[in-house]
Amino acid sequence: MADFICECNSKTVDVRNYTIRVVEGKGVVHDVQCEECGEHMTPVKKERNYTKEGVASLGRMNKSGSSY
Ligand SMILES: [Zn+2]
Repeated sequence: MADFICECNSKTVDVRNYTIRVVEGKGVVHDVQCEECGEHMTPVKKERNYTKEGVASLGRMNKSGSSY
């Protein structure tokens, strides 16, 4: 299962059953579509894993020794 979000309403939906395919030139694609606008939704990364940006900003803060 995974969380998906659509930009049209910023709602997060927990999708348990969806199909993932690997398409040449596109990478991994899924078939989760928004119920309201029909567009493909965007997978949401769980917060328990830091993103690259999160780790980078954290390291920058430690190095400078001051918060901003
Ligand atoms: Zn939508």
